[in-house]
Amino acid sequence: MAWGRRKSLCFLTMHDAQRAAYDPQAVERKWQARWEERGTHRVDLAGARRPFYNLMMFPYPSAEGLHVGNLYAFTGADIFGRYQRLRGRDVFQPLGFDAFGIHSENYALKVGVHPAELIPRNIENFRTQLRRAGLMVDWRYAVSTTDPAYYKWTQWIFLQLHKAGLAVKKRAAVNWCPACKTVLANEQVVGGYCERHPDTLVEQRTLDQWFFTITRYAAKLLDNLATVDWSHSTRTLQTNWIGRSEGADLVFETPGGHRITVFTTRPDTLFGATYVVLAPEHPLVDALTATECRADVNAYRRKTAAMDVVTRRVGEKEKTGVFIGAYARNPATGDSIPIWIADYVLMEYGTGAIMAVPGHDERDFEFATKFALPIVRVIAAPGQDAAAMTRAEPEIPDGRLVNSPGYDGMPWAEAKRAITTALEARHLGTAVVNYRLHDWCISRQRYWGPPIPIIYCEVCGTVPVPERDLPVVLPQLEDFRPDDTGVSPLARNEAWYRVPCPACGRTARRETDVSDTFLDSAWYFLRYPSADRRDVPFDAALTKRWLPVTSYLGGNEHAVLHLMYARFITMALRDLGHLGFDEPFPRFRAHGLIVKDGAKMSKSRGNVVIPDRYIEQWGADTFRMYLMFLGPYQEGGDFRDAGIVGIRRFLDKIWGLAQKVGTGAQGHRGTGVPADQRTDVPADQGADAEGLVRHLHRTIQRVTADTEALAYNTAIAAMMEYVNALQKGEPSAALLEPLVVMLAPYAPHFAEECWERFGHTTSVMDASWPAFDSALAVEEQVEFVVQVNGKVRSRLLLPRGTPEGAAVTAAQAEPGVARFTEGKVPRKVIFVPDRLVNIVL
Ligand SMILES: [Zn+2]
Ligand SMILES: [Zn+2]
Repeated sequence: MAWGRRKSLCFLTMHDAQRAAYDPQAVERKWQARWEERGTHRVDLAGARRPFYNLMMFPYPSAEGLHVGNLYAFTGADIFGRYQRLRGRDVFQPLGFDAFGIHSENYALKVGVHPAELIPRNIENFRTQLRRAGLMVDWRYAVSTTDPAYYKWTQWIFLQLHKAGLAVKKRAAVNWCPACKTVLANEQVVGGYCERHPDTLVEQRTLDQWFFTITRYAAKLLDNLATVDWSHSTRTLQTNWIGRSEGADLVFETPGGHRITVFTTRPDTLFGATYVVLAPEHPLVDALTATECRADVNAYRRKTAAMDVVTRRVGEKEKTGVFIGAYARNPATGDSIPIWIADYVLMEYGTGAIMAVPGHDERDFEFATKFALPIVRVIAAPGQDAAAMTRAEPEIPDGRLVNSPGYDGMPWAEAKRAITTALEARHLGTAVVNYRLHDWCISRQRYWGPPIPIIYCEVCGTVPVPERDLPVVLPQLEDFRPDDTGVSPLARNEAWYRVPCPACGRTARRETDVSDTFLDSAWYFLRYPSADRRDVPFDAALTKRWLPVTSYLGGNEHAVLHLMYARFITMALRDLGHLGFDEPFPRFRAHGLIVKDGAKMSKSRGNVVIPDRYIEQWGADTFRMYLMFLGPYQEGGDFRDAGIVGIRRFLDKIWGLAQKVGTGAQGHRGTGVPADQRTDVPADQGADAEGLVRHLHRTIQRVTADTEALAYNTAIAAMMEYVNALQKGEPSAALLEPLVVMLAPYAPHFAEECWERFGHTTSVMDASWPAFDSALAVEEQVEFVVQVNGKVRSRLLLPRGTPEGAAVTAAQAEPGVARFTEGKVPRKVIFVPDRLVNIVL
């Protein structure tokens, strides 16, 4: 074949360096430098015609540096962004640093270096690592939440919410970690212990705190989930966290004229309510407690006050409680039923009081059994004994009411409405929708965060800092250790917190709490396109062009915090006229987790993998592909050193193939090679060449679909199969170039180098994703003749290239063959690829 000769000629004239083995360090250094020099990763934000905002969750720049979990997340997002760029989109892929917060502060305390010194160092280190990993980041738009030019606007957002009545100060029971010496979010409490201090029991404290009233958006946060394209798991986590329930507020009156309101989702079980339980903090407890019970009640309340909110809420532990010596009237039966207090009832949820229905609620059943309280069945399946109850029966799908005069025989769902309506008429009930979601406590009694922009004046009260005075700069404090008083370290710095009142000029005091780190990250995606703007938080025209975010990839550990808060801030800013959309992330995909030896990586287990060593040894491209090959990206995988060499061999094979065919003379774009000398598809193609062309189209089809679906592991597997086929056949530039383009998102430096060797002078990232011909992509079927002992017994259509094992199995499954071979062990099998299976018995 003529083109074959030309190929060997090229090989002979190749430069020595080009024949050298693949040296990832040299290739990666070269391309990282060139990308920066050429601005390959830059996007023209103002002029982009097909904007694609590819967002990944920005990291906290720890002193330990980038860990493999970060890199796993970023690589998956980077592949997707690069793929979209090759599909012709203008991809904006920024990255920043979530650098405020308790992690940085605790680490700074540990090593005795000020965070203001430590953080810039860590950020520089992260940037270096991220560059080495080959991420397509436009660093011109990097942000750091600790930069006053950034947190000026975080404070501005606080002011907007404050103006709208969405930021309020209230006294509330909060989780207090005595080791962190600050308030924790419920999500930071694990089984009663601090997430960061597994040996420290979390306490409950009552403090004045700033809250964002996210609960006002509960319905919208929930309803909008139906309109977004999100990973199912993430949507479910968020739905459960919002926790909508339909029910009724019912009133239990006391002889003294007090009204105890309870929320229940099961008004149909009201006739079975045999006692009432109040939260120990319930405001009526003092008034209702009988003298003889007061000592016990007070002791129990003290004990509860020392517990954390989460442990109380989980409620798996032994039930405890105290009778307060008072009674209330069940509005349905008219009976006087006892009032108890118990720690599993919380002021924060519902009304701080429940009606207990032990017959149909497991927790109430356990409690009633322990304290010998009456248990009454009020719902029964048809034919079920209406009296006996040996356990709680919460769900009786076809149940009807019993022991409920006036409602007996009514299906329970109907009774829900009927009983609520009847009580509404007597002013003893109201139908309501309740949410589990709480208001977002944003106050932190720590140092390393943006000061909350509020000033307290004895005359004017709470005065917001005027916008023109932003940012309220966090002062450089040498002693920033938190203490146990519940006030921020900033409260020790009088020179900072004493300021004139903006309204009257009298001496006033700044708020000394800083805001929650989650507020910093609740709007960073709005800032990126406008990162260079000093005058506005986000430019209107750029925001209109680039937002909402086109695709967001991140971990489910942020499903209920970050994603919820970011959605809330977006909705609030939209309602206040600052944005034109209310869902920031119409598309979100959760990636899986990398584990090591079956366990989540953690410092305490000592199984954390630091990527640097692997990148040094194998190259970033090999390491990127290895991480993606561990398992389906949305499920994660188990990290084993042993697999890396397989990926490296795969790249080595392509390198070898590219060496064989690739020099400028073989390229065909802008290289001046006459069209008739191009090697698109060999003119005199034999069966092998045609098979390879088909295989190429099949591979393009698979890699396209899999990359689109984030099924990176199977996309890599498809490319591997194709490379193996190329090695057996006659490779050409036309067969290799599309592969190199498909490889570019996965192994960008490597692909650039091959691309250049094919004679291209521009970045492979400016090439187009290859198209496939679906007629060619269909697997070609060939007819196999199946013989038993040399006699033709059947004919079989199988994909071309079916290996022996699969062909024999298929042959033996044919009835005409099975008749002869069943129960017998073949002596041997004669196999002619794509033609014949002869089973010799
Ligand atoms: Zn702690
Ligand atoms: Zn004043």
